[in-house]
Amino acid sequence: MTDIIIKGFEVKDIRFPTSQHLDGSDAMNPDPDYSAAYLVLKTNTALEGHGLTFTIGRGNDICVEAVQQLAAQVVDRPFSEIRNQFGNFWHSVARDSQLRWLGPEKGVIHLAMGALVNALWDLYAKIEEKPLWKLLADMSPEELVDCIDFSYITDLLSREEALEILKKQVGSKEGRIQDLAENGYPAYTTSAGWLGYSDDKIRHLCREALEEGWDCMKMKVGSNLQDDLRRAAIIREEIGWDLKLMMDANQKWEVDEAIENMKALAEFDPWWIEEPTNPDDILGHAKIAKAIRPIKVATGEHAHNRVMFKQMIEAGALDICQIDSCRVGGVNENLAIMLMAAKFDIPVCPHAGGVGLCEYVQHLSAVDYIAISGSKENRMIEYVDHLHEHFKDPVQIEAGHYKLPAKPGYSIEMKTQSLQDYSYPEGIKWRNIE
Ligand SMILES: [Mg+2]
Repeated sequence: MTDIIIKGFEVKDIRFPTSQHLDGSDAMNPDPDYSAAYLVLKTNTALEGHGLTFTIGRGNDICVEAVQQLAAQVVDRPFSEIRNQFGNFWHSVARDSQLRWLGPEKGVIHLAMGALVNALWDLYAKIEEKPLWKLLADMSPEELVDCIDFSYITDLLSREEALEILKKQVGSKEGRIQDLAENGYPAYTTSAGWLGYSDDKIRHLCREALEEGWDCMKMKVGSNLQDDLRRAAIIREEIGWDLKLMMDANQKWEVDEAIENMKALAEFDPWWIEEPTNPDDILGHAKIAKAIRPIKVATGEHAHNRVMFKQMIEAGALDICQIDSCRVGGVNENLAIMLMAAKFDIPVCPHAGGVGLCEYVQHLSAVDYIAISGSKENRMIEYVDHLHEHFKDPVQIEAGHYKLPAKPGYSIEMKTQSLQDYSYPEGIKWRNIE
């Protein structure tokens, strides 16, 4: 087969006016317009690599510009050159001698890195004609480890330790693939618990979720304590006490406030509290985790990179590791994070929702189970029932489980019509909005 060469790219500013219905509203983000800086890598063949990074509206254009600057680095490069040394390639992009100043490895420039790296993996999986999870599951431990940049984490996880973790799972991979094919991967729903919804809407959505077979649910908290208590009571009334209930404060509280509020909310038996305070406050999270046990602390969707996760793990600041598919630098960095979590037996429960995040993370959780942690215990993927209709290969949920994706790629390619209609600001869906 002739080598595939990346010949050019397009970056699109795609936004969905979700703020009109308060979908996705939480204590920190009252009016998100779910958006994507959307990258298409073009090759010398009909194959394309698609990737996006997620934002919530204003500033998506800044991400688009950052993706443009990063993607320019892969034009005219043979894909085999990237694939054969993926870890080194990742390192070289993260260390671009001038762009690195904008991070390093955080903020807009690293969100953009997520779009580029994920588009390259989408292309890779399409070349191999496999869904991404299968491409990764079929790799040897050495090949997987070669995808990882271990810079700044070797004190917690060396290449040799990573290899050891992966080798342990090799012999039993097939059984777990079979299990996923038959039973899917456990999920929980956040659809019922948005902060902007009325009490009646919450009741109605709880009933609907029960009928659909969900056995875990998450609610948003952090508006004010009395409201949170009332809404938690309504949800428990509707779903009973057998279902797991998680709470998400979206960074709203001070550390002491988080401890105090969770002591009050403990009567509703939450399994975890997510992002109780500022996502950079490693020691604050550790303090909260210690004070509110057995309630777990979950965080990660705003953790910039593997170095943050390393410190969180080491400080006892997170009990549940919430990787995000594009906040960090794409698949490669998430492999590093999942391996660190596996070493300390911390369950990985990815952050999802937004636009495309469910489509992405189902592949990562599958790989975590098949090749890294070897476990589904206490692990589940977030699910939000928004915007899946815009994807060519949308997630499929059955009785509270993600079905294993089957089509080649990373499931992130959007329909051409959706890309046209929701282009910002010229798409037809935006023309009539003030
Ligand atoms: Mg969250």
